[in-house]
Amino acid sequence: MIVAKKIFVRGIVQGVGFRPKVFTYAKESQVNGWVKNTSAGVEIMVEGTPARVEKFISKLRVSPPPLAKVDSFVVSETLPIPYKDFTILESQSDPLEFIPISPDIAICPECKKEMFNPKDRRYRYPFINCTNCGPRFSIIRDIPYDRPLTSMAGFDMCPECKAEYTNPENRRFHAQPIACPTCGPQLWYEYDGKVQSRKEDALQMARKEIKTGRIVAVKGLGGYLLACDGTNPKTVYELRKRKNRVQKPFALMAWDVEVIKKYCQVSKAEEALLSSPQSPIVLLVKKPGIKLPDAIAPGQTSLGFMLPYTPLHLLLMEPESGYPNVLIMTSGNQSEEPIAYQDDEARERLASLADGFLMHNRPIEMRTDDSVSRVVENHPYLIRRARGFAPNPVQLPTQVLPILAVGGEMKNTFCLSRDNYAFMSHHIGEMDSQETFQSFESGIEHFEKIFRINPHLFACDLHPDYLSSNYARKRSCAENKELIQIQHHHAHLAACLADNGWKSDEQVIGLCFDGTGYGTDGAIWGGEFLVGNYAGFNRVSHFSYLPLPGGDAAIQHPWRIAAAYLQSSGLEWENDLPPFKGISLQETQLLEKQLQKKINTPPTSSLGRLFDAVSALVGVCENTSYEGQAAIELEAVLDPNETGAYEFEIAPSREIEIKKLLTQVVRDIHENVPVGKISAHFHNGLNNMISTICESVRKESGIKTVALSGGVWQNRSLLTSTIKALTNEGFQILWHHQVPTNDGGIALGQTMIAHVQSQR
Ligand SMILES: [Zn+2]
Ligand SMILES: [Zn+2]
Repeated sequence: MIVAKKIFVRGIVQGVGFRPKVFTYAKESQVNGWVKNTSAGVEIMVEGTPARVEKFISKLRVSPPPLAKVDSFVVSETLPIPYKDFTILESQSDPLEFIPISPDIAICPECKKEMFNPKDRRYRYPFINCTNCGPRFSIIRDIPYDRPLTSMAGFDMCPECKAEYTNPENRRFHAQPIACPTCGPQLWYEYDGKVQSRKEDALQMARKEIKTGRIVAVKGLGGYLLACDGTNPKTVYELRKRKNRVQKPFALMAWDVEVIKKYCQVSKAEEALLSSPQSPIVLLVKKPGIKLPDAIAPGQTSLGFMLPYTPLHLLLMEPESGYPNVLIMTSGNQSEEPIAYQDDEARERLASLADGFLMHNRPIEMRTDDSVSRVVENHPYLIRRARGFAPNPVQLPTQVLPILAVGGEMKNTFCLSRDNYAFMSHHIGEMDSQETFQSFESGIEHFEKIFRINPHLFACDLHPDYLSSNYARKRSCAENKELIQIQHHHAHLAACLADNGWKSDEQVIGLCFDGTGYGTDGAIWGGEFLVGNYAGFNRVSHFSYLPLPGGDAAIQHPWRIAAAYLQSSGLEWENDLPPFKGISLQETQLLEKQLQKKINTPPTSSLGRLFDAVSALVGVCENTSYEGQAAIELEAVLDPNETGAYEFEIAPSREIEIKKLLTQVVRDIHENVPVGKISAHFHNGLNNMISTICESVRKESGIKTVALSGGVWQNRSLLTSTIKALTNEGFQILWHHQVPTNDGGIALGQTMIAHVQSQR
């Protein structure tokens, strides 16, 4: 007896070697039929004896290709034709359908082996790739994902590549970026606007420059990186000077995990993340006494390392005596601008930063930064979601309308949704420059095109002045579609729910802690206990309001925040307190006047700002040069063996007062208590206070689930101790796994809230 089945597979199933796998399984199971890509996924027709057909289906279900992400696998009965063999049919496209697109994938072990094999025809070829690895998202112009619609369109395949590309049993069957030294992209090295060398010579020239302490701009997967010797303090200092990046840490690259282990502690989970196909920068705890310049990451206990994720990076990192084993690989940009990704743009924008350029002629279609992650409780925990992750969709717990959610202002990402997919954009950045705004606009246009999404409604932050909100407002007017404005911390809460696949309309306790977010009362919120769900929220507790002198500008001067908080709590500005030691009388008088007259001192309940104040008060960080610095440095000095805790005063209304806290900190400073102990007591105190409030809310409401979201939760000490404490007390904890806990995740929450609210 012959049976026939049709199978339809959705998810990331194109450009990942799905059809060759199907072909192989069909041959192994001795079934006939066909497989083809459609604009919505992969369609398969199989026929054979019931046992063989079953065998085929179970193979495909159990072991799809490693890079595929199967979201649905639907099998239906059909009539046998019958077919004589199994074939791969031409793609079929429907202009309105869409499928998820694979992110860029780090070089696979097979390609790496071939590249270093002198007998291979791609020996030392920097653009080697296959169906299991290489560029995807960064080279796609449109769908379906086929070579003419990628930035490889201009390269004609040579007969050998063509033979591999058309052979279903080859690892490069339909590998769209397939290339070789004969027919593919090539390297060159240039400076002073002139090409100095090409191919292997260009690589060697770049290596020589790096070795002698120069800074080289290297065109990578999603943009230009600045590469230089990470072991040479002079070079690191020079890079800092040129980048005008006073203290923000630089990312590092090493040849393999063994090199990284010389400098950092690397757990099994961290090693797995470093070597994963996503290959992000992983923040690792520094080993004591290592010989790397402090200027790489001043004031930090961790270093951000990544492994070479493209063949070009491998060639650049190749070990050789006298060549640095660690390179700095930082974004090619001036401080917070978007990373340069087009050749002419790079020549212009990076002219003052780089001594030379290692370039190639494969165009980058979409700018993408390196992703940054760390490992918490053995889970990857993203800080910046970009290369390797975007545009992988987050699966939503429900079908939603086509929505564009534009995110926030800091660490912007946007989200376009369709069906139950949320296509979260790659990291766009700080929306305070024209360049970033352009990158945001063109990113939205690109996502709308490649995922065939025409938004029915728009969602944005409640803040009246955000550039992203202005954009959404303009489009909603121009297109006559609804705009839903969403409170920042509500978006955080919903982002955490959606990240955890939260289906129900059951309420949770949201601990939404960050630096800044516009409140429904116009104040700057950031230390919020919300009870809510996708539909709405109640603010059940928060830190009491304190004046923020200079508004958001105060963030760069934590000492001013410390001073303002002391004064509002009725505490003296004593000269022996670290923030006042180096400050002139004139400056303090000016601040005093500002506070008295309440000139630009908006009230804030931000926990991020409380971290800043304590950090400055104990003299850890009084002025900052990047976001979150004071809090990061306060966490860095924490003495993990300290179990004592400061007390927070909680009013009957559950408002959290900080006078008592500051009094204890000031007392300890006077008693010369080490900062590590003060930091620990502060962290432990927060922990106890969080438990007390959650317990009180549970008593009143019966809610047993707590969601942790907001930038403050990038603090690993606070996160792990909170998870532990609340779990012990019988709470279910939701925290972030797929999108960052910082503002890079809020577009996901905005999407779910806008969907639910529009259904009313
Ligand atoms: Zn490969
Ligand atoms: Zn070729």
